[in-house]
Amino acid sequence: GAGEHHAEVVVLGAGPGGYTAAYRAADLGKSVILIERNPVLGGVCLNVGCIPSKALLHAARVITEAEEMGAHGITFAKPKVDLDSLRGWKDGVVKQLTGGLDGLARARKVKVVRGTGTFSGPNMIAVTGADGDTTVSFDHCIIAAGSEPVELPFIPHDDPRVMDSTGALELADIPKRMLVLGGGIIGLEMACVYDALGSKITVVEFMDQLMPGADKDMVRPLQKRVEGRYEKIMLKTKVTGMEAQKKGLKVTFEDAKGEVTTDTFDRVLVSVGRRPNGKLINAEAAGVAVDERGFIAVDHQQRTGQPHIFAIGDVVGQPMLAHKAVHEGKVAAEVAAGHKRAFDAQVIPSVAYTDPEVAWVGLTETQAREKGLKVEKGVFPWAASGRALSNGRSEGMTKLLFNPEDDRVVGAAIVGTNAGELIAEAALAIEMGADAVDLGHTIHPHPTLSETINFAAEMFEGTITDLM
Ligand code: FAD
Repeated sequence: GAGEHHAEVVVLGAGPGGYTAAYRAADLGKSVILIERNPVLGGVCLNVGCIPSKALLHAARVITEAEEMGAHGITFAKPKVDLDSLRGWKDGVVKQLTGGLDGLARARKVKVVRGTGTFSGPNMIAVTGADGDTTVSFDHCIIAAGSEPVELPFIPHDDPRVMDSTGALELADIPKRMLVLGGGIIGLEMACVYDALGSKITVVEFMDQLMPGADKDMVRPLQKRVEGRYEKIMLKTKVTGMEAQKKGLKVTFEDAKGEVTTDTFDRVLVSVGRRPNGKLINAEAAGVAVDERGFIAVDHQQRTGQPHIFAIGDVVGQPMLAHKAVHEGKVAAEVAAGHKRAFDAQVIPSVAYTDPEVAWVGLTETQAREKGLKVEKGVFPWAASGRALSNGRSEGMTKLLFNPEDDRVVGAAIVGTNAGELIAEAALAIEMGADAVDLGHTIHPHPTLSETINFAAEMFEGTITDLM
């Protein structure tokens, strides 16, 4: 039946996936309602994810670059950190973007219904919110409910000294000693921020390397640098207990040999992954299947098992990244509007905005090995890059992986300052089927870090003669 509100396309969740889908569907002439439980649009990415973390990482980079110029003849005074002002600036950046989203919605006549939505039938969502309860009916629905941080059963999550990424981004204070539980991208980015602001950092990771997922050789320059700056990096170690005491959080560690140790920290950042919100939307009422972890399976057009209901972003699976959500949002909106479109991207880049940054796209060497795929590589060490040396940061490395049969690029990884910006060229190369000659014969501007892609291709071809 008809709800109190009706739209041709209803989008559940206003993160990067959801707002992109809503605006695209509206641009294609559909009537659109966007349902969001938060008072502010933008989801995790804008409010408590990508954007505030990058503002703080920028501040961290300014601090450490200033510190390191000391070795090259320029000494600054020790930075004075006004936390209120830094927090205000970060919040202002977020507000500018989320406010912009309101304007984009208005301009397209996308109606925003605020409240928590749960399915009450195959064409209906019930919304409960501050403004009272209502129902929204739809012809097509796009689920973009996102994800939230994983909590661990033995951790006192209600102790204010235990933080998730959202808590860490609030920047309430600068703890003396902080434990980062989980050495993935989010944990290492926040470690980078708090280290620059003056905290002593310990990182504990269950796997045998930081940032599992990236090739070990590409993580090594980051690991070496943080080993020099942080108090301790514990690999192959799990946290088995945490006790809230007056003087701090007493944490129990167990290493691979079964050896148990304890240590006490002022704060613990729990960054052990994110879980999808699929179980929170009563999807069964619409006949949409949700797996036991909370993910919703979709086909190459982002359709769930119900052809008029789509799902996009973190709620459909890994990698949980904003640019993947945005891309899927466009696909779902266009298919819902009757266009011919499918998710046919070959690769999705991953970036850790740590210092140095680590970025990769397409196949990694580890994946190639696991899949039994033959790849050959071209590797260019930044110690031979004039620009990296001039930047005072020559620890980086650019690695390209090629299919030996046709020399096409199948994967790339870059570690070093600005690796996140540089990796886009490799993504384009893979999507366009570029080969080593394409990259090696494209004239790159000198002296730039982008040249390292050109040089890595030439290293593979054996045509490089002089490493400067
Ligand atoms: P989300 O952004 O999670 O949005 C979902 C929205 O749906 C939320 O606003 C939520 O309130 C709403 N919602 C959920 N359920 C309901 C309901 N029942 N009713 C109404 N509304 C509902 N990714 C990158 O690509 N680059 C980065 O640099 C990056 N940095 C990150 C840093 C941190 C600290 C974190 C936590 C994440 C980061 N990510 C980054 C990941 C990125 O934020 C997510 O991949 C992205 O936000 C996913 O978008 P989404 O649209 O799927 O969902």
